[in-house]
Amino acid sequence: MRFRRLSAAVGAAGLLVAGLAACGGDKTYATVLEKVQDGGTVVVGTKWDQPSLGLKKGAEPEGFDVDVAKAVLKEMNGGKDVQITWKESASSNREPFLQNGTVDIIFATYSITEARKQKVTFGGPYVVAHQDVMVRGNDTSISTPQDLKGKRICKAAGSNSYKRITDPPPDGQLDLDAQLVDAANYSECVQKLQGNNLDAVTTDDLILAGFAKQAAASGGQFKVLGQPFTDEKYGVGLKKGDTKTCEAVNAAIKKLWDNGTMKQLQEKWFGGIQGLKLTESAPPAEGCA
Ligand code: GLU
Repeated sequence: MRFRRLSAAVGAAGLLVAGLAACGGDKTYATVLEKVQDGGTVVVGTKWDQPSLGLKKGAEPEGFDVDVAKAVLKEMNGGKDVQITWKESASSNREPFLQNGTVDIIFATYSITEARKQKVTFGGPYVVAHQDVMVRGNDTSISTPQDLKGKRICKAAGSNSYKRITDPPPDGQLDLDAQLVDAANYSECVQKLQGNNLDAVTTDDLILAGFAKQAAASGGQFKVLGQPFTDEKYGVGLKKGDTKTCEAVNAAIKKLWDNGTMKQLQEKWFGGIQGLKLTESAPPAEGCA
């Protein structure tokens, strides 16, 4: 991926522009929006290991976040499909990938948090998930999130979910003592739960629903408590300062709520899952800072 600097002659505005330049091809763009509207190939970061959200099976990932990414970009391009290169963006890679231009935009179960707002401009939220807890089907010792005190919980690198258990607000919640077991991502967390290397995977209900559904299909048994205790506002990650693109993302999300697409996509990937609280109406936009 080539990254060409703009001429210094463009002055102060140019500095800002060079700082934001979207990566790709022979051309440099001031914003991701410009790249989309010029027919450029957009590098989109998603998860590749989370069933029903972003899961790479064949050539491309599939899932709710992948479909939302395609729909938002298409709206931003006046209804025309956008060429996309998909790039795996694990929780731990999201901020660095936006900062160093590896990706243009991220749709990856990416909660808008206070700490991340310092480094990332967030469009959205497009839906609101809620943190819940998943345990082995035969575990009767954990029946509420508070029961995680003293238990082994998964710490997926770069994710905020473990903090919701161990830290106080704003980015934490319950402020409990729990033992943290490291994992690279949520699929590794789930393997460790299966293998009895930890006691619970606690993260967004949509993520847990995807894994529980996949496990049920292959005979594995997990139990989701069904006790959501946070609001996880799923944002669209952009390089800090790209407010033009952020505003276009927010307009696209509004349209996709107004025309029923966001409801349809939630139904497509999460319909019929018992006890799962889907987002009913457009969540208020956070504002592009
Ligand atoms: N939504 C939470 C977060 O952004 C958990 C899922 C994830 O790490 O992707 O931290």
